[in-house]
Formats: sequence, structure tokens, C-alpha cells
Amino acid sequence: MSIKVNQVSKLYGKQKALDNISFEIESGEIVGFLGPNGAGKSTMMKIITGFISQTDGEVFVNDIQIDPEAIDIRNKIGYLPEHNPLYLDMYVREYLLFIAGMYKLDNKKARVEEMIEQTGLTKESSKKISELSKGYRQRVGLAQALIHDPSVIILDEPTSGLDPNQIVEIRDLILKVGKQKTVMLSTHIMQEVEAICDRIIIIDKGKIIAQEKMQDASKIVADNEFIIELELDSKIDLDLIQKLPEVIEIHHKKEGVLLIRSMSDIRSNLFELAVENNLKVLSMRIVEKTLEEIFQEITKENS
Ligand code: ADP
Repeated sequence: MSIKVNQVSKLYGKQKALDNISFEIESGEIVGFLGPNGAGKSTMMKIITGFISQTDGEVFVNDIQIDPEAIDIRNKIGYLPEHNPLYLDMYVREYLLFIAGMYKLDNKKARVEEMIEQTGLTKESSKKISELSKGYRQRVGLAQALIHDPSVIILDEPTSGLDPNQIVEIRDLILKVGKQKTVMLSTHIMQEVEAICDRIIIIDKGKIIAQEKMQDASKIVADNEFIIELELDSKIDLDLIQKLPEVIEIHHKKEGVLLIRSMSDIRSNLFELAVENNLKVLSMRIVEKTLEEIFQEITKENS
């Protein structure tokens, strides 16, 4: 087990940022830590990396308990904080050499060149960090997080503030380096986890509200809820549909097309209702939900 979080809570004064959180991440997994702003993602990551202490509970990385004094294990973790604190006056190469020195790496120069190449910084490597675009600064942040070849990588919003091209490049980079590592990344962008992760953990208001393997994510709500798209040849009195057992709500998708949320698969009831009212069913299907919809639904229910 690479990361084990056991009943962790964190209070900032009276504010509860994390409320009894437990989860595990296996070696080799890329896990997305998903949640709206203020959910507690950064707080959890700072605790895992030993930057701040929890109020309650325990965290283990590679079976070693984390606390701010546990320097040896902290050196096995790569961390890209949310507000990537770079030394703007330093040159890219100079900065990475400085970081390599902090980790007391052998062959510092060779390792720095390797990281510059891997993170696509070659063209920018002679510039000052202050002269770099946000996307390139993020690459420097990633190079900094990876330079000591950590087995566990924690990335806090690695693509926030980047343009679409930069997002794709950084995601590819994470996928590439993530192959042999354990990666936990936070985001509030659903497509991000869909693109990169093996598993998602969704948190809201400091509590875990769902965790699923990516391929099972659609089950999170689909187990007890259906969305049916219904197209009829002419208008139907919506009250008639609303009166069917198990119907939760009805939306107009576009002219003539309804989206019906229900607690069970009521397609046959809808078909009968249409026939009873002399309407023709032009099409009817169960809508597979996107992760985005699932996420909105889950966080909405918890607010
Ligand atoms: P996220 O990363 O999901 O946006 P955070 O972990 O940054 O969430 O914040 C979780 C909650 O803790 C928020 O309500 C935030 O305002 C609060 N919080 C975070 N850091 C501090 C701090 N240093 N002092 C007080 N409250 C904080």
C-alpha cells in the first residue's frame, strides 16, 4: 500500500476542513482527488506530504507514518503544491540544480538535464523562471516534484490556469511519469480524471462522498437512478408522466425531447402512457451519465 489515510480530521481553529477521512492508494495507481473548491483537497495533500499536521488520525506512505519530522519518508514523496512556489529570480537550470542539491542527489547535473528533457523544458531552460509562461512554470514545478525519483507523487491542481494545449501536454506528462509511480492528483475538472485516472475519490465539505474505479464511476448514481430520454411525435401533458411511480423530475432537453429522472427503469410505463394518449414514441433510451453529471449530482445532494 503506497498511501494509507486512516480516520484523518483537520481543524483550522473551529473550521473543520477534513472530517474523519479514510482511504488507501495502491502502488502504481493514478487516483484523482475530486471535489469543489473548499472541499479539503489541498489540506489532505499537505497532510500526506507532511507539510502540515492533522488534528486526528494517521497517514502512512510506503507503510511509514507521516509527520512533519519524518524527513526520510518525505524525501520519497514528490509534491507539486497548488500555488507552485518557484524562485522567480532563478534560471530554470539553476533552480533545478538547487533542488537536486537539497535532495543531495548524485550526478546532479545529469539528473537536471534528464528532467529538463522529460518535462519538455529544453527550449526554455536558459530562461529566468519569471520569464516563463504559466504552462512552463508548471513544468518546472513538475520537474522539481520528480527530480529525486519519488515513488509517490502528489499533484495539487496540476493543470489549473493552463490553456487547453498546455493541459493536454501536462496530462500526457503525468501519464508518462505515472506509469511506474503512485500518483494522487487533485482537480475540480471532471474531464481531467476521466483522461488520466484509474480511480476517483470524491470529497465534499471534508468528507469522502464516493470512491470508485474509473470504469465503475457511472454506477455511483446509476445504481438507484435512471435518466430516460423520450422523444414523442407531439406534446404530452407532463403531469401524466410526473404521476408515474418512481419519477423524480422531468426536463425539456429540446423541442419534443424530454429527459426523465426516475428511481427505476420506467421505459415500459412510458411506452404504455404514450399509447394510451395516442402518441407515438419516436425514440426512447437510457442516458449514460458523464462523470461531470455524476459529480454535480453527488455534490448537490450533499449541500
Ligand atoms: P480545496 O483544496 O478542496 O479547495 P482546502 O483544503 O484548501 O480545499 O480548504 C478546505 C477548507 O479549509 C476551506 O473551508 C478553507 O477555507 C479552509 N482552510 C484551508 N486552509 C486554511 C487555513 N490555513 N486556515 C484556515 N482555514 C483554512
